[in-house]
Formats: sequence, C-alpha cells, structure tokens
Amino acid sequence: MERLLDHVFVSRRCNACGGSYDVTLFDVLRAQRLEEEWNPRCKECAPQFDSLLRQLPREQLEAVSRAWEVLWRELERHEVTVAFR
Ligand SMILES: [Zn+2]
Repeated sequence: MERLLDHVFVSRRCNACGGSYDVTLFDVLRAQRLEEEWNPRCKECAPQFDSLLRQLPREQLEAVSRAWEVLWRELERHEVTVAFR
C-alpha cells in the first residue's frame, strides 16, 4: 500500500552539523506509535526531531492514516491507480 503520509514531509536542517533531512509524517507517526529512539546525526538533531513529535498531533495523524487505508482499499477494489506529485 502506498501511504499518503510517506509523501508529506518536513524538511529539517541542523544548525550544528549542517545536515539536512526530510521527516515524513509517517516517520513522525511511527515514532509516536512505537516511541522508538530516532537516530540523530548529532546531538542537536534529536531535539529538532523531538519537537516535531510534540508539534504534530498524533490523533490527527492516526485519523488521516486510518482514512487513507480505507480510501486505498477502495481504490484497489475499483482498480484505480493513483500517482503522487
Ligand atoms: Zn546535526
């Protein structure tokens, strides 16, 4: 299943190491679900990622994820192929 939340991301840049990375909404939801420790590139990356976990409401991400799964099953049932841009 294509996940809608894999296609929506927040671009983050770390002022300490200069690294940049994209955090998808599914990354956030997965982290919220599992409360896994994200592997930061440096000690400054982690707080930035942690802030996303607090800023993006899990309840709404879960709702979008559930709604998307239902919609995706309907797309498959009707053999409709969708693309992302
Ligand atoms: Zn960094």
